Amino acid sequence: MRSTGKGKLSYVLQTITSLPLLLFGLIILGVGTHRFTMSMYSEVEIELSNVSGNIVTMFDALYPGDYELQEGNTFHFQKGGHDLTADYALIDRIKADTGMEITFFYQDTRALTTITSSDGGRIIGSAAPSEIAEEVLKNGNPKFYKKTLIYGLSYFSYYVPLRNQDGTVAGMLFVGKPTAEVDAFVRRSLYPLLAVDIVLVILTSLFTFFYTKRIVSVLMQIHGFLKEVSAGNLDAQLSPSVLNRSDELGEIGQSALIMQRSLYTLIEQDALTSLCNRRSGEKRLKQIMKKSAEKGTPFCVAIGDIDFFKKVNDTYGHECGDVVLQNTASIMSRHMDRIGTVARWGGEEFLLIFENMGLDAALASLDQLMNAIRTAECCYQGQSVKVTMTFGIVPGDPKDAGKNLRLADEKLYKGKDGGRNRIVS
Ligand code: GH3
Ligand code: MG
Ligand code: MG
Repeated sequence: MRSTGKGKLSYVLQTITSLPLLLFGLIILGVGTHRFTMSMYSEVEIELSNVSGNIVTMFDALYPGDYELQEGNTFHFQKGGHDLTADYALIDRIKADTGMEITFFYQDTRALTTITSSDGGRIIGSAAPSEIAEEVLKNGNPKFYKKTLIYGLSYFSYYVPLRNQDGTVAGMLFVGKPTAEVDAFVRRSLYPLLAVDIVLVILTSLFTFFYTKRIVSVLMQIHGFLKEVSAGNLDAQLSPSVLNRSDELGEIGQSALIMQRSLYTLIEQDALTSLCNRRSGEKRLKQIMKKSAEKGTPFCVAIGDIDFFKKVNDTYGHECGDVVLQNTASIMSRHMDRIGTVARWGGEEFLLIFENMGLDAALASLDQLMNAIRTAECCYQGQSVKVTMTFGIVPGDPKDAGKNLRLADEKLYKGKDGGRNRIVS
């Protein structure tokens, strides 16, 4: 019986292995993404802080003095008397080198910037958001924001206070990086990780799927075998691929086979002689008849009976009779091993079936067997016991089991009447 692989167990096993794995993968991915993003953000913060610090130091070195704003028709933002608004080359170059936007605030007013509006003009004159001005200008603290909206664009921004020589806060410096740029970088870095994770989850799920399918298939083979045995087929076979397994399933298969053999012994074997019993002898006869009918091969049926067996019991005891029965059965079993079947038909009577043999060949073989029994000595408690047997034999009819047995029996009784210790055909 083959497994369909669609049993409940298969689904349960797949679910309890694949689902946690999938969840685990997703959690790892989620936590990994979060941690990676956070570390990227803190790197951006450090980078922005470094660049802003460098700009402040550079401007202090280039133009020592205080920051001033002269407002008129146009903005003139000055440091140490130098009009910074007259020449944008320096901050534009810093922007080109670092990829960062730069804005100088005089107090909270944009006085000098690299950021341009959609019409291309620099966005000077506008004010910084009040909470940023409050934090940086009033408290004098640098501040990092993950999301600052400037003219519709989101920036990672770093604000540092700009101090005059007396330490008072004159304004602030903004250094910013577009959020989209950083997020795109984070995404680009995470995609390969995500791909590896998904591939791993898929591979493991596939592995689990096929492995559980194989296990379920083995279980189904054992199940099919047990079903056949419970339906009475004691010749059912269990695949060597199950029996040769070195795991628990192999052990279950072995146990099922042992159970089948025990059942066979109980149902089909004679307890005293270990020969086939009458039930299994009849079954075997029908099988041989069927084969003969299909292939046209001949067979012969014989029934044999130990002569004067009652006397053996009476003279040496019932136990000795048992031993004689066992010995005689063992001689018959060895003789019939490759040429047919022998079964204990009842008491001291035996059924013999000669397969693929015509009457002449069967007679010759039976004669050898009769002589072997006749000459065999059975030793029991120091005494030697010998027995003879009488046989009736007929060529088998592949269509009529009753007739085969009846005719063989009739011949046997002819032999008994004729003086025993002989074969009648
Ligand atoms: P015949 O030559 O006419 O067959 O004579 P017989 O004595 O063999 O036949 P009978 O039918 O008179 O006796 C058969 C005896 O076989 C009687 C019975 O006690 C004995 N017998 C049958 N089964 C067993 C057995 O399992 N063990 C023993 N020890 N004796 C058995
Ligand atoms: Mg007898
Ligand atoms: Mg008898």
